[in-house]
Amino acid sequence: MKHDTPAMRRVYSRRAVIRGAAVGAAAAALAYGLDKAGLVGSQDPGLPEPDAARLSYRIHPGSGDAVSLLGFGCMRFPMSPEAAGPHGPQIDEAAAFRLVDYALAHGVNFFDTAYPYHQGVSEEVIGKALKRRPRDSFFLADKMPGYRNPTLDEAEKIFETQLARCQVDYFDYYLLHNLSNVEHYRKIYESNGVVDYLLEMKRVGRIRNLGWSFHGDMPMLEYLLSRDLHWDFAMVQFNYHDLLNNVPSLISQMRVAEPAPPQWLLETLVRTGIPLIIMEPLLGGRLARLNKKALTILQEEKPQASAASWAFRYVAALPNVLTVLSGMTYMEHLQDNLRTYSPFTPLSERETVALGRALNIFITQENIPCTACYYCMPCPYGVEIPAVFTHYNHCVDDEYIPKGARNADYEKARRAFLVGHDRSVPELRQAIRCTGCGICVPLCPQRINIPEQMSRLGKFVEGLRSEV
Ligand code: SF4
Ligand code: SF4
Repeated sequence: MKHDTPAMRRVYSRRAVIRGAAVGAAAAALAYGLDKAGLVGSQDPGLPEPDAARLSYRIHPGSGDAVSLLGFGCMRFPMSPEAAGPHGPQIDEAAAFRLVDYALAHGVNFFDTAYPYHQGVSEEVIGKALKRRPRDSFFLADKMPGYRNPTLDEAEKIFETQLARCQVDYFDYYLLHNLSNVEHYRKIYESNGVVDYLLEMKRVGRIRNLGWSFHGDMPMLEYLLSRDLHWDFAMVQFNYHDLLNNVPSLISQMRVAEPAPPQWLLETLVRTGIPLIIMEPLLGGRLARLNKKALTILQEEKPQASAASWAFRYVAALPNVLTVLSGMTYMEHLQDNLRTYSPFTPLSERETVALGRALNIFITQENIPCTACYYCMPCPYGVEIPAVFTHYNHCVDDEYIPKGARNADYEKARRAFLVGHDRSVPELRQAIRCTGCGICVPLCPQRINIPEQMSRLGKFVEGLRSEV
């Protein structure tokens, strides 16, 4: 495998915006992905089409697979607001196919789905999309949802269901999904016999490469690496924010009491030489969001590069990286990512310094760390939680939070905030409607104290209104 020189140190962002009054449609998109804004420069019509012939690839040392450096994450397919089902809006299949076809045409050959993505519909959609292609023209990854505590019998049924949904006879890459602690691993994968079953599936060719995704503690990783088992790859969350600050991912923090520090995780994995699949390179989209000052620093270095492109370049330079996953909802995301890796170039020393400066500014801003994942929704009292936070965050990013009534710009900022707020969030769904019931709190992976923030923002908005 070709290892690129580790370069960078620091963070970035692509925006999750709700546009205009079309909250229903926008919310559907936001629930599953990021908006088009924030692709600074990358939407310039003068930019060239991504060059299919120049996309970078990495070779998996065990199988010899030539894997595209950009991997297609299938957890954020575009949604169709018109076609609502029992779980909410449905995947816009035609739009998803367009993305998959474009990705394939430009050299992307790695697709990553999972049992729970889009309530199982992700597996079906990517299965349909790839069914139209020769089986040896793509690599498909799927995952055993061990966190559902399956018995061996249930695990076998899940695996068969996944093959059927994806319309394939084998998975190129198959993962034990979300490993977190030793006790759980022993119970599900060892005592229940699920890992032996998966090894047997590998032996008979229904799994080509077996690995795991990790959101756990240090004993879990040490235990995994100490087993007399050959793991073909590992999927881990790395991004420049977590690595440079050595902050464990929020998902790990939710799953275990003492999550493995990312720097230790990287060093330990690199020592083993295990190929790495990178997830969440944008920290749930937060690294694609920058305030004006931070963005300006980066634009001075590379005027047409998006915030996201810096984050993608950072992680691709880490050792042993096989592919970097991106859940792409819009064609602009896909094109931007393709340009970033066609071909991949590591950050220069000068760019590394600039990214560090931008990160320092980014982490001191007052954003609410909402990624618009929609896990907290629906609110029983109708509050459009992600939309409320998204509008506030955009105003923070754009330095449009009205402050100090005596400031010359105060009235302009006040009006802009209120107009944008009322367009983004219908009256009956605004923060002031929050009763503080707390139902949403345990559902938020970012651990946001939602009722507290709603109370604060509700008072803030009402205060602005009262100044008419
Ligand atoms: S605390 Fe507020 S936002 Fe959360 S569920 Fe209750 S009413 Fe909705
Ligand atoms: S408040 Fe939390 S759960 Fe709700 S959309 Fe934001 S990050 Fe997701």
